[in-house]
Amino acid sequence: MAMLVLSVVEEADVNGREILSTGISMVGLGGDDVVCGRCGREMMSQVPIRTMQATLLYRCEGCGALNEVPPDAES
Ligand SMILES: [Zn+2]
Repeated sequence: MAMLVLSVVEEADVNGREILSTGISMVGLGGDDVVCGRCGREMMSQVPIRTMQATLLYRCEGCGALNEVPPDAES
């Protein structure tokens, strides 16, 4: 388990990728604490994000930034 800081994606670079809102904090059963790359808000807690679809984008409800799992995040 670790803290994973996401990479901010510009709206222009979405290219039709699916966007997941994290308005309600997601709490999983084990994994990483996922933090917004812009404002540092904790978006998800204990979520196995490294096993989730790599193309998903996560919208921070704190600052509105779109985030993605950085390509070098493989554990
Ligand atoms: Zn944010």
